[in-house]
Amino acid sequence: MLDVNWTIKWLTLCAQAMAENRLYLIELDRAIGDSDHGENMDRGFQAVLEKLAEVRPETPGAALKLTAMTLMSKVGGAAGPLYGTAFLRASTAVGDAAEVDPAAWAKALVAARDGIVARGKAESGDKTMVDAWTPAAEAGQAAAAHGAGNVLEVLVAAAEAAEAGAIATDPLVARKGRASYLGERSAGHRDPGAASSALILRAAVEAAA
Ligand code: ADP
Ligand code: MG
Repeated sequence: MLDVNWTIKWLTLCAQAMAENRLYLIELDRAIGDSDHGENMDRGFQAVLEKLAEVRPETPGAALKLTAMTLMSKVGGAAGPLYGTAFLRASTAVGDAAEVDPAAWAKALVAARDGIVARGKAESGDKTMVDAWTPAAEAGQAAAAHGAGNVLEVLVAAAEAAEAGAIATDPLVARKGRASYLGERSAGHRDPGAASSALILRAAVEAAA
């Protein structure tokens, strides 16, 4: 079961992943954007860590809500409101439960994806973070439905699908966000937001391992 300690460990590992991959995400955004994605994400998750040091959330939902508010105010750019909405919807989906079971976590992933789509209006194949979140949400749901209630299976399925989804953005032509200004020239590069989304969902696995 995913409790508040798992949630805090996940967010801590997200901050670590964003710090370690800051330059990688900057390079991806340099190719098809404005080079700030790594900096935005690193700043945002460092701010989440600072918040967690001040207030200790009592439930997974409270930790996710704190994350949403912090990312919205600190990340900026396109990604800030999108990740903010994703974490806020996930927080609402899990409610005030002390522990989140596999089915509820799969629902939270779907809620996060739906929030990103509602906010950014991107469809699958537009070369955005939606291309990581949609397969992740679908794989999470499938794992929750078929598995014997094993939460690690749901987390692994979502992370692997997000990673494959991020890689699959390489040949796509961007139709949303800053990269869409490049038209055909956006093809041949990985979408930065899809890459950071895959890192976030991989950290969720590591937090449970
Ligand atoms: P900005 O583009 O404002 O510089 P970032 O560089 O932090 O913001 O984030 C860029 C990422 O945001 C993109 O790689 C893409 O994944 C995501 N993104 C941009 N616009 C949208 C959108 N409309 N829907 C979903 N994701 C989007
Ligand atoms: Mg950018």
